[in-house]
Formats: sequence, C-alpha cells, structure tokens
Amino acid sequence: MARMALGVILSARGDLEGRLRRIKEAGFPTAQLVSPPAEDLAGPRSQELKRAIASSGVKITSVAAVYAGESYADVAAVRATVGLVPRETRAARVEHTKRCGDFAQAVGSPNLSSHIGYIPEDTSDPDCRGLVGAVREICDHLAANQQSFCLETGQETAEGLREFIGVVGRGNLKVNFDPANMIMYGTGDPIEALGVLASWVEGVHCKDGVWPKAPGQLGEEKRLGEGEVGIERFLAKLKEIGYEGPLTIEREIPGEQQMADFAAGKKLLEEAKGRLGIG
Ligand code: MG
Repeated sequence: MARMALGVILSARGDLEGRLRRIKEAGFPTAQLVSPPAEDLAGPRSQELKRAIASSGVKITSVAAVYAGESYADVAAVRATVGLVPRETRAARVEHTKRCGDFAQAVGSPNLSSHIGYIPEDTSDPDCRGLVGAVREICDHLAANQQSFCLETGQETAEGLREFIGVVGRGNLKVNFDPANMIMYGTGDPIEALGVLASWVEGVHCKDGVWPKAPGQLGEEKRLGEGEVGIERFLAKLKEIGYEGPLTIEREIPGEQQMADFAAGKKLLEEAKGRLGIG
C-alpha cells in the first residue's frame, strides 16, 4: 500500500458492492467499513459482504464497530448510550465487538476500531476498572486474530486517552485519530493531540468540523476543508510524526452528496500532499 494511501469510510448496509465499485472508480484504493449490524455478521448476508469486498479490489484498512441503541445527539446522549462505557449493555457489546473483529479478520482488515464512549478521567474509579477489563478482553481476542484494537479519538483529551492506554497495558491497543472529533467534542487542539498520541496512531480520519457553540452541545461536522481542523497542518503533522498509514475521508452524510464530498476531499488531500512532498 502506498504511503498515506487515500480511502473513505463506508456503511456496510445496503448496496456495499455498488459503493465499493464507485469508490474504486473514483480512485480510492482503501476503505474503512462501519460494521454490519449483528444479524449480518453471520449467515448469507455475511457471505455476500465478504464476496463483495474480496472482488472489489479495495483494501479494507479497518472495520469500525458500532452498537445498536447509540445516540450522538448531544453530550448527555453520548455519555448515556455510546460504546462500552454504559454498564448495562457492556457485556453484550464486548461480545458484539469480538464478532466484528472476526468479521474484520475475514475481510483482511489489520484492525478493528471503535468509539468506546467517554472514558472516566479517574482511572481508579470502579466504573473505569470495568471498562479497562472490557477493553483488555477485546484486545486479547483481537491479538489472537493478529489484529489491533483502535480507539477513535474525540471524547476525551489526548492526555486522558494516553493514560487510559497505559492502564489497559495491551500492546495491540492503538488509536484511530479523528481531528474533527477533538474540535466537535471540545477536547483540545487536534494538532497538539496528534503529537501526544503519535506512538499509538494506526489510522486517521480526514474529517472536518467546528467547535461547539454552547456547553453540552457538540460542534458540527463539515465537508473537508470547510471546518476548523486545517487539513494541511494536519497532514504536515502526520508527516512529522512519521505516519505512513491510510488517510480515510469521513463524511457523516449519506447518499450522492457523500460521494461528491469524498471526491472533493480527495482533490484537497492530493493537492496538500503534493505541496508537502508526501506521496
Ligand atoms: Mg471518525
């Protein structure tokens, strides 16, 4: 795979085969995949998805585990519903995460990624100890698959995430760095954060966004180049830390506009790579 190869993140629902064909035609050699729902991780639909991926010629660089019942409406909703933090759903979601990892392995992905939710800042908190146990269990399952577990950034500060990774203490626990999330959740300047987490970054989302307008709210996601990340300074920092993995464009809207924004994002990234001598 070329250095900083371009890709996009796609839903596995509906016509995945058609979407993979379109992104291949648009010049993207890689993609991340949002995990299929639990009922599609086995049986005929699973086989259909695996065939579509194998015949697409697109390299899957990560599968992102998502969970039924999650809401990203505002900070309170994220705290209550997202990832492995809510206690009531934790055990079932750990099992789902492992199945997503097995699916990811079957489609050739070197890692599984996930938003695990708001990590408690006090790592000695009993709630945090339960979360640490859950992440260790997932890491150990993925290690047997020769995979990493990549934590999506945004809901905590870079220092907080670094401390949590240290407490978990598993060598295959890595980071999928999303600069827009750092801004949209108001957790810190993404370029400084990337420096703090440099040793763990295995994947990145090229996504843009603006800072929240009021406490309790989340900032708004934007088309790449139209938010406050500063994509060129982001690429320059990736080059500085020696990152060579894929650049995965994320756009949280569906349909034709998403495809159009992927194409516009590709042009932006290629021009910036050219100016920075990456390629
Ligand atoms: Mg992201």
